[in-house]
Amino acid sequence: MVAGAGIGGLAAALAATRAGWLAHVFEQSAQLGEVGAGIQLGPNATRLLRAWDLLPAALLQGCAPERVVARDAQGGHELGVLPLGREAEARYGAPYLTIHRAELHGLLQQAAQAAGVRTHTGQRVRAFIESDTAVGLDLDAAASPEGDALVAADGLWSGLRRQLLGDAPPTPSDHVAYRGLVPMSELPPRWRVAEVTAWLGPRLHAVSYPVRGGDMLNIVFFLEESPRAGERWGWDHPAAAARLKAGLPAVCAPLRELVERVPSWGLWVLHDRPPVAGPQEMARGRVALLGDAAHPMRPYLAQGAAMALEDAFALGRALACVEADVADLPAALRRYALERWQRCARVQRRSLRNATLFHAGGPLRLGRDLALRSLGRRVMDL
Ligand code: FAD
Repeated sequence: MVAGAGIGGLAAALAATRAGWLAHVFEQSAQLGEVGAGIQLGPNATRLLRAWDLLPAALLQGCAPERVVARDAQGGHELGVLPLGREAEARYGAPYLTIHRAELHGLLQQAAQAAGVRTHTGQRVRAFIESDTAVGLDLDAAASPEGDALVAADGLWSGLRRQLLGDAPPTPSDHVAYRGLVPMSELPPRWRVAEVTAWLGPRLHAVSYPVRGGDMLNIVFFLEESPRAGERWGWDHPAAAARLKAGLPAVCAPLRELVERVPSWGLWVLHDRPPVAGPQEMARGRVALLGDAAHPMRPYLAQGAAMALEDAFALGRALACVEADVADLPAALRRYALERWQRCARVQRRSLRNATLFHAGGPLRLGRDLALRSLGRRVMDL
């Protein structure tokens, strides 16, 4: 059983089904879907989409950018370039992809359905009840299903994690993300390029890239700003452009013009949680954590969903090794946790470190800009 039908939960159910298990997914929302806008996936994640036969469709719906460019948000000038395209694809064995979240979610949903995953919407999992041989779910609905194992993929505010580990909720950071989407046809030609651009400025950065086959530009500003009352919970609070503009110090003309052209903004407050201390915090008995429920991270390495996909793949491999005896399941979940916890912790820490680097001022900024000049000569190690 899987709690949560986000990108992580659907991928986990797909991987489990392909490993020979029957997966049931319980999702609290009345309808399956994804809020938000674009998502970047590095080759570590697109490799997995290929393994699940989803890459060709993902490339048709999304975009394969030719390069990542770092620019100074104040001056607009180029700080460094990381070429992607064919050369990078040959080196890393898979392309870099930018895609709308709803499209990625839709592809996973279709694949899961085709593989035989059973999805139950409008079913909030309140708690689990574990015995030596099974796990039961306490649902809002009357029925209490039981299964051999539970994967808690219930996201950042995971209640099932709280039950499993007894730890506190994640803490809100002082970083807020404003995301917008704008049709390319409404933008000057300089924006209609197949590239990911990271605009770095003191106490802020922005990331822009094409989605929807190049028809839309996705833009996200990350500002150091205290969240307002009522914004802590939930995703995608509507935000007035005036608020974003008031929070933006002197940024270059193209970025200011872009802000004017975006029809509406959605706001997320970014949250932090320290990495788990060991595999025993990612899986216990017949219950495993996956995706943001296990390791929420700042989106400053664009790896949160990628880690959820990697988790799902590792889970599928661990489950494929279980013989017919379901008594082996706790051992399989332990193997999954052993494989995943250190990598996820490392990526979480590096994502957080990027917050300091991206928003740097003074000597750190000078050092960063110097290092960015050699971006194209370095190798991504994800
Ligand atoms: P979620 O997407 O949170 O899904 C959890 C699901 O569980 C939801 O459907 C929810 O309704 C359901 N649920 C919750 N509680 C219950 C319950 N009790 N019972 C049943 N269902 C429940 N990652 C990248 O790889 N690349 C990027 O470029 C990138 N950009 C990002 C930009 C921003 C601004 C942000 C905030 C994040 C970004 N991420 C990115 C991170 C990525 O979005 C997340 O890591 C990813 O969506 C996590 O997926 P998930 O399935 O674990 O959790």
